[in-house]
Amino acid sequence: MAQEKKQGKLTVHTENIFPIIKKWLYSEHDIFLRELIANAVDAMNKREAMDPDVKKDDLQVEVKINKRKKTLEIIDNGIGMTQQEIRKYINQIAFSSAEDFVQKYKDRQGKLIGQFGLGFYSSFMVANKVTIDSLSYKKNATPAYWECEGSTEYKLNEGKHKEVGTKITVYLNKENEDYLEENKLKELIEKYCNFMPFPIVFDKKVINIQQALWHKKPKDIEESEYKEFYKELFHQYEDPLFWIHLNVDFPFKLEGILYFPKLNQIELDLSRGKIKLYCHDVFVADDLKGIVPEFLLLLRGGMDIPDIPLNVSRSFLQEDRQVKQISQYIIKKVADSLKDIFKEDRNRYEGLWEDITHFIKYGMLTEEKFYENMKDQLIYKTSKGDYVTIEEYLVRNPQEGKQKKIYYAPSEDLQVTYMNMMKEQGIEVIFAPTVLDGHLFQKIEMDRGDVSFVRIDSEINENIINKDKKELVDQDNKTASDKIKAVFEKALNNDKVTVEVKSLKVKDIPAMVVFNEHMRRFQEMSQFTNPEAMDMLAQHTLVVNSENETVKKLLKLNDKGKTEEVNILCNYIHELGLIEQKPFTGKELQAFIEKSNKVLQMIK
Ligand code: ADP
Repeated sequence: MAQEKKQGKLTVHTENIFPIIKKWLYSEHDIFLRELIANAVDAMNKREAMDPDVKKDDLQVEVKINKRKKTLEIIDNGIGMTQQEIRKYINQIAFSSAEDFVQKYKDRQGKLIGQFGLGFYSSFMVANKVTIDSLSYKKNATPAYWECEGSTEYKLNEGKHKEVGTKITVYLNKENEDYLEENKLKELIEKYCNFMPFPIVFDKKVINIQQALWHKKPKDIEESEYKEFYKELFHQYEDPLFWIHLNVDFPFKLEGILYFPKLNQIELDLSRGKIKLYCHDVFVADDLKGIVPEFLLLLRGGMDIPDIPLNVSRSFLQEDRQVKQISQYIIKKVADSLKDIFKEDRNRYEGLWEDITHFIKYGMLTEEKFYENMKDQLIYKTSKGDYVTIEEYLVRNPQEGKQKKIYYAPSEDLQVTYMNMMKEQGIEVIFAPTVLDGHLFQKIEMDRGDVSFVRIDSEINENIINKDKKELVDQDNKTASDKIKAVFEKALNNDKVTVEVKSLKVKDIPAMVVFNEHMRRFQEMSQFTNPEAMDMLAQHTLVVNSENETVKKLLKLNDKGKTEEVNILCNYIHELGLIEQKPFTGKELQAFIEKSNKVLQMIK
C-alpha cells in the first residue's frame, strides 16, 4: 500500500485562532490537561462499547513526563484514530466548533471562564507543538501521525504507533515548563480527573478515585464508605460530623454529598476548595462564592450537576434562574436533614449542636429560607443544664401579658450575682455566647413580635426591690437615698455612670451594674463598623443597695467628713459591680484582694 503522506492547511477562516486560544484561556491554563484526559476517557468508553475483545479492566490512561524533551505524553488504549478520522475530527470538526465559539463569544472577552470544551486545541495554550500518534482499533488499520506547531499548518501521514489507542505529545513552551514538576501534575490530575471512570496512571501509580460516591444510592452506602470518601477527597484525618446525601432528578439533576466538618469556631475563611463542583465527573470549579449561599461554604463536599450552564461567565451564573433553584434546593435539603435529626434523635442533635451552632446561626441570619426552616430547631443551653427551643423556654417559664421575656447571659461563668438573682426567682436563663446571637435575637424579636431577649444584667428584677418602702426626709428635705446618690456621684465623678439607689431584698449585695439592653445591643452591633462606639460601652447604671451595711456605713463616714475613705469605698463598690462582667486574671485577682482588705479595715 502506498504510503499516504499529506501536508495541509487547517480549514479555518479565522486565521488568528491560535492567538485567541492562548489569550482567552490565559487564566485557566491547567484545563488543557483535563481536556486531553477527558478525550482519552471518551475514547476508552467508545472502545469498551465497540470492541468485543477488550474488557473495562484492560483500559487505562497514562500520563508521562519527559524532562529532557520537555514533553508531556497522554497515552490511552482507547478507540484510536485513522488518518481519515484525524482529518475529520481534529482538523475539520474541532476547528469549526472552535470557530463557532469565537464567533459566539467575540464580544464577551474577559468574562469567560475556561469551561467551554475547546478540547484538544486548548493544549496550544501551553505548547508550541503537539503531535498525535494513533492506531485505530479497526482491523488492519495503519498507524497515523499528526503534528502541528500552533499555526494553521499541520502534517498528517502514516505513523509508527504499535498499540491500539492514542498518544498525545505536548511540547511545552518556555513559560509552561512548570508542568514538568511531578507534584504539580499529580495535583492537577487529582483535582480535575479524580472521578473519571478509568484508572489514570502517573508515576506508575493509579492516582484517581474513579467513582464518586454520590452516584451510588444512599441505601447502598456504608457509613464507613462516607467517611473514607471524605478523608480521601479532602485529605483529612478527622471524621466528618455527619453528612447529607443530595439526590434530585427534577427540575434539574444533581447528585452530591455535603459533609459537616468538625468546626467549633466559625471559619470565616470561605476560601475556595471546600465544595467542589463537577459536570459529568469532570471537575469544574471549587470557587463557588456567589453561586451557592455563603453559609454553605462552611461545609465540605462535592456535587455533580450535569446541566449546569458552565459555558458562560460567573456573573451570568449568579443571575441564572436554574442556579438559584439549585441553591434553594440545597438550603431546603440541609434544613430538612437537620430537622429530621432534631425530631428523630434529639440527643444526637444536642450532641452535634456546639459544632454546628455557628453554621446554623450564620445561615439563619443570611438566608431567609433557612431561617424559616430552622427557627423551630434553634436551641440554647440553659441554666438548668439542658437545651431548649424558644417555644420550650416559653412553656417552661410561663409569663403573663402578651410580651414575654427571655433572659440570657453571655456565658455560664460571668455575671454570677445576676445569675443567682434569677435562680432565686426561679427564672431560667439561656446562654448566648456569640456575636451572632445578638443579631439573631433581633431577628427573632422582629419576626415573632411576642418575645424580647433581655440580658440578665440589663435590668434589676422588679421582684427583688422593696417597692413600698417609705423613706424619711431630713431637715434639708433629703432622703437617705438622695444622699447616697449624691455621695456616689461625687466620688465616682464619671458622667457615663448613672447612679440609682434602690432598696433591695438581698442585703449582702452593695451595688449592681446595669447595661440598658437596647443601648448595649446597638453598641455591640456597631462594634465592627464603628470602633468608637465601643467607648459607649462604658455607659451604664450603678444601682446602689440602700439596705447594704457597707453602704449605710459609707453614709456615716461621709457625715464625719472622711472624704478619702468615702472615695475609695464608692469606687470599690463600683468596681465590684463591674467585675461581674469579666473573669479575673491572676494579677487582677491579687490586686482586688489587697484593695478589699484595705476597704475592710476602713469600715471596721
Ligand atoms: P470534543 O472532545 O469536544 O469533541 P476535541 O477537540 O477535544 O473536541 O476532540 C475532537 C475529536 O477528536 C473528539 O471528538 C474525538 O473524536 C477525537 N479525539 C480526540 N482525542 C482523542 C483520543 N485520545 N482518542 C480518540 N479520539 C480522539
